[in-house]
Amino acid sequence: MDHVETLECTLCGAEYDPDQVIYTCPNHSGVKGILEVTYDYDAVVDRFDEPLDGDIRSQWKYRAFLPVADDVEPVTLGEGGTPLLETPRLGTELGVDLRVKDDGRNPTGVLKDRATSVSVTKAGEFGREVVTCASTGNAAASLAGFAARGGLDCRLFVPGDAPEGKLAQPLVYGADVLGVRGSYDEAYDLSMEVTERFGWYNRNAAVNPFQVEGKRTVGHELAEQTRGDVPDWLVFSMGDGCTIAGGWKGFREFADLDLVEGTPRMLGVQAEGASAIHDAFHGHDDIDEVAETVADSISVGRPRNTLKACRALEESGGESVLVSDEEVLAAESLLGRTEGIYAEPAGATPVAGLRKAREAGIVDEGDSVVVVVTGNGLKDTESAMRAGGEVDAIAPEIDDVVDRYPDEA
Ligand SMILES: *Cc1c(COP(=O)(O)O)cnc(C)c1O
Ligand SMILES: [Zn+2]
Repeated sequence: MDHVETLECTLCGAEYDPDQVIYTCPNHSGVKGILEVTYDYDAVVDRFDEPLDGDIRSQWKYRAFLPVADDVEPVTLGEGGTPLLETPRLGTELGVDLRVKDDGRNPTGVLKDRATSVSVTKAGEFGREVVTCASTGNAAASLAGFAARGGLDCRLFVPGDAPEGKLAQPLVYGADVLGVRGSYDEAYDLSMEVTERFGWYNRNAAVNPFQVEGKRTVGHELAEQTRGDVPDWLVFSMGDGCTIAGGWKGFREFADLDLVEGTPRMLGVQAEGASAIHDAFHGHDDIDEVAETVADSISVGRPRNTLKACRALEESGGESVLVSDEEVLAAESLLGRTEGIYAEPAGATPVAGLRKAREAGIVDEGDSVVVVVTGNGLKDTESAMRAGGEVDAIAPEIDDVVDRYPDEA
């Protein structure tokens, strides 16, 4: 891995060898000392000889940017390479020039697959046979899928309030699913404890310095797909904050290397009931640790990546907004109705946030915007039922149909 320089602490700047298994900087208590992977970009560029022609079969097109050894076969299900769709009807509705990147089309239905593919590949590289994480659902399913693909054992810590439908997927992938009677934060702490004790490889958001690196490929792809037409704004939902941080890092890298001209401003969206990153960005210090929102994938009380997320917002000249659960569900239905894109609540949250940002005068009329849908609606049918409304019951009689559509009969 001569293209990877160090693991650098985001708090104190201490540097660590990228060839050892380390999660956070030991100079700080808990999981505060998040590590950042730094690269030798001359070496990266030497290895990168792909045409930027918009033809993206999988995220491994950007392998030169990923922190894996040259002789390693990646554990992949074809993640990445998701479409950037023109969405004129939704754009008109929101008063902007809009495109949507549908990352719900990834192998297990979430953007997280980009990161999981990298961390499961690393687990193999480090000779680990068991992988673990704490998750509200999507990271668990993603890890279970890629563990199965790579022939590794998977043990998951899932908080009691995760939507039950989301647990079917990791169970089918053959993982041990341990339902923790407690919050996400408690499940998380437990998973960190077992990682230390048992030496399982940990994919937890933010603390595994390599897993977030995979999320950069959404930024690489967006830079490639918007070359010559870089949007004014790029919108993500925020839970732990790794996704927006990774997306920004990827886009910025391509701009720094002159592979694309200019960068978008990042718009980060959180739920009113789980607003810690937004609060930190706006300088409120009374951070509320209780998280409660229909968008379960971003229901995080203590985000592990607040610092990196705030830096992405700051460096890009960005902003953050909050949305209510009703606004999230309305956005899920709007996205489906206007463009045929089926998102889970956290995947539709950026659409709700874009509407908020328009109303607040943050995003101007006619601005060019790209929204990233991070998760598929099939993940959470219960919320989709709330967003979509009711079935109309009719008799098996033609008259009932005529009554409904009298002008067309
Ligand atoms: C995990 C997740 C997010 C948030 O990503 P973070 O890195 O936690 O900020 C958003 N949407 C979906 C669908 C997710 O699964
Ligand atoms: Zn440190």
